Amino acid sequence: MSGQHSAVTIDAEYCTGCRRCAAVCPVDAIEGRQGEAQSINQQKCIMCGQCIQICSGYASSQDDFYDTPRAIKLNERNMPLNLREPLFAAYYRGDFQTVQAVLSGQRFHTIVQCAPAVRVAIAEEFGLPLGRLVPGQLAAVLRRIGFSRVYDTNFAADLTIMEEGAELVKRIKTGSTLPMFTSCCPAWVKFVEDQYPDLIAHLSSCKSPQQMAGTMFKTYGATLDQVAADKVYSVAIMPCTCKKYEAGRPEMKASGYRDVDAVLTTRELAYLIKAAGIDFRTLPEESFDNPLGLYSGAGTIFGVTGGVMEAALRTAYEILAAKPLAEPDIKRVRGETGVRHVTVDVGSMQLNTVVVAGLKNALPLLEQVRAGQADFHFMEVMTCPAGCVSGGGQPKMLLPVDTAHSHRQRTTSTYQHDAELPIRKSHENSAIQKLYREFLGEPLGHTSHQLLHTHYRSETRG
Ligand code: SF4
Ligand code: SF4
Repeated sequence: MSGQHSAVTIDAEYCTGCRRCAAVCPVDAIEGRQGEAQSINQQKCIMCGQCIQICSGYASSQDDFYDTPRAIKLNERNMPLNLREPLFAAYYRGDFQTVQAVLSGQRFHTIVQCAPAVRVAIAEEFGLPLGRLVPGQLAAVLRRIGFSRVYDTNFAADLTIMEEGAELVKRIKTGSTLPMFTSCCPAWVKFVEDQYPDLIAHLSSCKSPQQMAGTMFKTYGATLDQVAADKVYSVAIMPCTCKKYEAGRPEMKASGYRDVDAVLTTRELAYLIKAAGIDFRTLPEESFDNPLGLYSGAGTIFGVTGGVMEAALRTAYEILAAKPLAEPDIKRVRGETGVRHVTVDVGSMQLNTVVVAGLKNALPLLEQVRAGQADFHFMEVMTCPAGCVSGGGQPKMLLPVDTAHSHRQRTTSTYQHDAELPIRKSHENSAIQKLYREFLGEPLGHTSHQLLHTHYRSETRG
């Protein structure tokens, strides 16, 4: 299971001690003197992978003059054994070999999901411009790699909004714990569990879209395909290293089966595509499978900072104000700054929200909540600097000058995708409506509560 062995590590043999990683680590987990090999304090690490993105200590892809042969290193990292790219000191142990073996066998009905931020980044691995939007080619390539069903995390992002929006409305109406915190970033959740356990009740009880999708595959999806749940192998393609840890959390199997069996990062997906000999650049555009692959614009903006908030507001407004939201673009929650306070008029009340990009920026707000001085109802926190488009599993920029540019281009493409989609609000997604009619009942209902919600607490760490 991927989550049990996916801790982020620094290989002392390749580390130069430059400490660029320590500068970006949001929890000060990197220890060591300048010029000496660094190590990660695993008790503090929240597995965001930002150190992997910035690491500049590497072994050449061509030589073997280090003590440990390259093939042994690749095997330790669960990477392709013939990989010809530099091996960096900071890395996570992947799942490439595991998933490749499952796909080449006949044992499982394989169902894949793909996060919003992957479709604006995977093309970069094939020499296409930074941020190129390729949902159609992504669906096509996943089918050619051999997945039985090509579904989508974006669908589950819409599902998350249905549940999270209903939870926020319920907390407001019943005077329950506020402010509510988003729970779709597992690194943020782990941070609250580790460092602010007294504030755990503020986290939404919703599972993340990855986990919601996985549990739907093993229940509703398995029934649709007339396959036994124990024959379904559920794979998630993510921009995020921490999603590997999240999938392995012990409580993430409420259906009786693990929601997600393996998580591949965007970079690992590129390895699979290359290993299969597929020319990504010439692929035709295809669609994700229905019904669990149909998504709205609200689902797709989960990939950028402010996206979860904007998606939630599109639905919460219509519930609380009891009238249609004329303009789905809520541009005030968008932007690059670390903290954005936005107040929205919804019916008879003013909803005060905060969007936080970059975990360190959340610290003053958490202290306000702890002191009982928070003046907002709902807070989105994404650990990575621009949200998931800048996640630790995304294509690595070798030149620092490209990093900010790539984040900007991926963000622009995400909003472009939202604007082009025929449905912009999660509750208007017809596949979501059908799922509630046929299987879940209603948001926060009995089945939803059992499968789509969880309890966060420190001792559940896997
Ligand atoms: S994975 Fe994130 S939290 Fe862990 S050491 Fe690296 S930067 Fe720090
Ligand atoms: S912001 Fe996204 S990519 Fe970064 S740790 Fe959170 S979920 Fe993962």
